[in-house]
Amino acid sequence: MKPNHKGRARLFKNPVLEKMSRTHIALPISIFIAIATGLIYYGITYSFINVIEAIGFFFLGWLIFTLIEYLAHRYVFHMSTDTPLKARLQYLFHGNHHEFPKDKDRLAMPPIVSILYASAFFFIFKLIFGQFVFGVVAGLLFGYAMYLFVHYAVHAYAPPKNSLKTLWVHHSIHHYKDPHVAYGVSSPLWDYILGTMPKKAK
Ligand SMILES: [Zn+2]
Ligand SMILES: [Zn+2]
Ligand SMILES: [Zn+2]
Repeated sequence: MKPNHKGRARLFKNPVLEKMSRTHIALPISIFIAIATGLIYYGITYSFINVIEAIGFFFLGWLIFTLIEYLAHRYVFHMSTDTPLKARLQYLFHGNHHEFPKDKDRLAMPPIVSILYASAFFFIFKLIFGQFVFGVVAGLLFGYAMYLFVHYAVHAYAPPKNSLKTLWVHHSIHHYKDPHVAYGVSSPLWDYILGTMPKKAK
């Protein structure tokens, strides 16, 4: 798919669905930071977790998010497109972003969808972590907000002149050189661990 820096994808014939497929990035970022803050506040206020547990499980949840981000990007967003249905879904979820990387309203799922995912994760992680779910899911949602922020910044702004520049370089390689490496957006951690770091250009 050749990247195009002008224009946008038409995802649905239906104009209402088409409109709903566009999301201003500030909306999900604010929603998920608010929910993450609320979970920590609720968990501590009602003594489900203490402050130390909140901090520890928050970072665990954030780490878990970075793995989910990596796996979803590698195996769902870049799934094989050997049937017309899979090709349609791949384009809907992610292919449109590779064709129009600078279309800023298609960098996040519609909040209705991501809130449903967040609720499902809350119930799954409640089964695994019990009352610590308040810390874990707060970290998970904060991780998602950070991912959205980094992804937006990388596509919308020039790279900064500090070490954060590596995030810009990493994601440009994924878009403009090889879409089968550099799947991590908010950090290259899982690319290191799971062997999808880009080969050093020399
Ligand atoms: Zn991107
Ligand atoms: Zn991609
Ligand atoms: Zn792709």
